[in-house]
Amino acid sequence: MRKISILGATGSIGQNTIDLVKRAPDDYEVVALTGAQNIAQLAKDAIELRAKVAVTADLARLEELRTALVGSGVEVAAGVSAVTEAAARPADWVMSAIVGAAGLAPGLEVLKQGAALALANKESMVCAGALVKTTAKEHNAHILPVDSEHSAVFQGLIGEDITAVERIIITASGGAFRDWPMDKLAGATLAQAQTHPNWDMGQRITIDSASMFNKALEVIETREFFEVPPEIIEVLVHPQSMVHALVGFKDGALMAHVGPPDMRHAIGFALHWPERRHLPVERLDLAALSQLTFRAPDEKRWPALRLAREVMATGGHAGAVFNAAKERALDHFISERIGFLQMAEVVEEVLHRLSAQSGLTNAEMTLDSVLEMDHLARNTADEIIANP
Ligand code: NDP
Ligand code: MG
Repeated sequence: MRKISILGATGSIGQNTIDLVKRAPDDYEVVALTGAQNIAQLAKDAIELRAKVAVTADLARLEELRTALVGSGVEVAAGVSAVTEAAARPADWVMSAIVGAAGLAPGLEVLKQGAALALANKESMVCAGALVKTTAKEHNAHILPVDSEHSAVFQGLIGEDITAVERIIITASGGAFRDWPMDKLAGATLAQAQTHPNWDMGQRITIDSASMFNKALEVIETREFFEVPPEIIEVLVHPQSMVHALVGFKDGALMAHVGPPDMRHAIGFALHWPERRHLPVERLDLAALSQLTFRAPDEKRWPALRLAREVMATGGHAGAVFNAAKERALDHFISERIGFLQMAEVVEEVLHRLSAQSGLTNAEMTLDSVLEMDHLARNTADEIIANP
């Protein structure tokens, strides 16, 4: 039996992971499940999967979790440090599906104990790619991409020589406002932004898809994961979300990964890697689909893509600043304090104000240095929003 843990078990990726685990309960021994606000779901899954420990990141909800699990034999814990401790419990494979930079510290603990890290939390790679990769190397731990595009590229590279790769193309659905006229975007509401045409995901990544910040993070994630130069990474708008990524080789061949928009493919691939096993995803009927379309993204509509290029050119801690500023701008959009287009303006202004910050371009990275930059970027974003 493989020992597994799921961080962010109550979220969209966490629940899809649990769906796969529940189909083969005898294959897995569940060590830890973590969540935050959704105590009922966390308790229900912890009982059903006979987890050793269930953890909520919210200290104030410890009693509620304890009550929900009384008599079940599942240990309970709460708070940010309890999540990190849960990540450090010995396991063979851990899903990292906490949303935001909060996923970084627990992910590092997983690597330090040498477990395979299935990484949905793209923010870890964006904020601290160098640190995540050196930690994995030092402890002989594998990092398996779960983001659908990165899983697709990873699969496209199996048995290939990375030096033969001349381009990597990741696709974007275009999100909720793909076909909106530009002059309507300023008035886009929260309700409109959190409706995704193809994928069923958490609220934050859904809004990031509409603003293309999700794709901007993924371009940086591609650079970090596969260690390729930024200029060979391309984005294509592909409204059907069937082709997840393409790898182009120097002989001109393009290898595409095609599948339905169902995260259980990428999660299952990471779960069973290096094997391939049956997965309960729809089999595509290409004849019935009849058309797959692609177009270049308009960087005027989606300034996040231009900002990602600037972040990669700066390097060092610019990714941590970019992600934190984006997280804060998104918080303010969700609380309806700023408009849809202001998110990118705030992020650009934070990058501009912190461009001369000492330590920004330092290649040397520690958890503390990343968290310090993250904190500074959030405060700067708050300041900009408070004094427009
Ligand atoms: P959700 O918002 O659905 O779930 C987030 C999870 O993290 C929940 O379990 C939530 O708990 C928990 N959580 C929230 N805040 C904290 C915190 N501060 N500390 C610890 N745990 C916390 O997100 P998704 O599942 O959509 O996304 C998770 C990650 O995967 C993100 O990094 C996202 O970018 C990435 N991803 C997601 C995809 C998708 O299809 N959803 C696709 C590709 C990547 P609770 O719900 O109990 O409050
Ligand atoms: Mg993705």
